[in-house]
Amino acid sequence: MRYKDLLTGFIRLHILHHASEHEIYGQWIMDELARHGYRLSPGTLYPLLNAMEQRGYLKSRKERHGRTARKLYRATGSGKKGLELAKSRLKEFIGEAMKE
Ligand SMILES: [Zn+2]
Repeated sequence: MRYKDLLTGFIRLHILHHASEHEIYGQWIMDELARHGYRLSPGTLYPLLNAMEQRGYLKSRKERHGRTARKLYRATGSGKKGLELAKSRLKEFIGEAMKE
């Protein structure tokens, strides 16, 4: 993905936004991000989810589906707080950057 270094913050916020509303899993968030124009490979997404979990923004649980297990993620309290802070900063940024 081009400009990934600039866009990963938005990707993280998208993930947090959805994970604060309901449980998400890798393929679902990959499709959702693609809908918004972020095309991530599993090799990029899963390490990102892991890192966010290690930072305490997400927590996961495993759910069995026959022979395979799916990892479901939810935002933690700290993740939700970070999201709220980022949203207020984003609002300020939009006010500044989007005015003609
Ligand atoms: Zn979204």
